[in-house]
Amino acid sequence: MSAHTQTLEELAEYESIVERTFCSEEDGYEFFNAFARNKGFSLRRGKVRHAANNDEITCRQYVCAKEGARQPKFLNMKNMKRRPRPITRFRCPFEVVIKHNPDMNVWYVHKYVDKHNHKMSDRQKKEILAYQTAGLRKYQIMDVLEQQYGGPHNVGHVTKDLYNFSYLSKKAKIADGDANAVLQFLKQKQLEDPDFFFEYQTSSEGRLLNMFWCDGQSRLGYQAFGDLVILTVHTEQIGIGCHLFHL
Ligand SMILES: [Zn+2]
Repeated sequence: MSAHTQTLEELAEYESIVERTFCSEEDGYEFFNAFARNKGFSLRRGKVRHAANNDEITCRQYVCAKEGARQPKFLNMKNMKRRPRPITRFRCPFEVVIKHNPDMNVWYVHKYVDKHNHKMSDRQKKEILAYQTAGLRKYQIMDVLEQQYGGPHNVGHVTKDLYNFSYLSKKAKIADGDANAVLQFLKQKQLEDPDFFFEYQTSSEGRLLNMFWCDGQSRLGYQAFGDLVILTVHTEQIGIGCHLFHL
């Protein structure tokens, strides 16, 4: 299962970003800074390029504030007198590059990578699920985590990561809930009908992959008419699809 599939809204957003133009570098920075704040992460000005004959900026990169990485010499320093500051950068791939077009005197989006790689710890995942169960909204969960970990930079992931995790966990919960309900139903049927038979396969993660069943009635039908109806179920990530076969 992929970590996150792009929705139509995300594709439309991507299109609207790459087609955008700005009247100055400052204008571009203000837009992407607000964009980042809205998405729950901080923007940092990255590399810059100047014109060959003057100081004017011709190209500017913006990155996620968690883009860089601490230099190895600081990570491996022995006999450190002070505790190292918590690591807040993760070589995050989020990147925007805007370039100046001198002929049209306009700034355009040259590169846009809308990806973050901030890791969410297992402990944080459990905390998020607990807060979710307690009824907290996602932005409230982010606020609580930021307070708990002493600021947004110590949380390790951004609001968008929390939204993605919450979406995927809800999806997995629905799928598991549906599969369990079906298994419970079939176990009940078996208690009521001694001729009822069912078999199912699960993946290594315990997910229901496929299922077969037939009841006393269909067995009798086969004996009488040589015709058997088998109903199998394939569970996808969400919901259940039924397939009917006549043999
Ligand atoms: Zn990032």
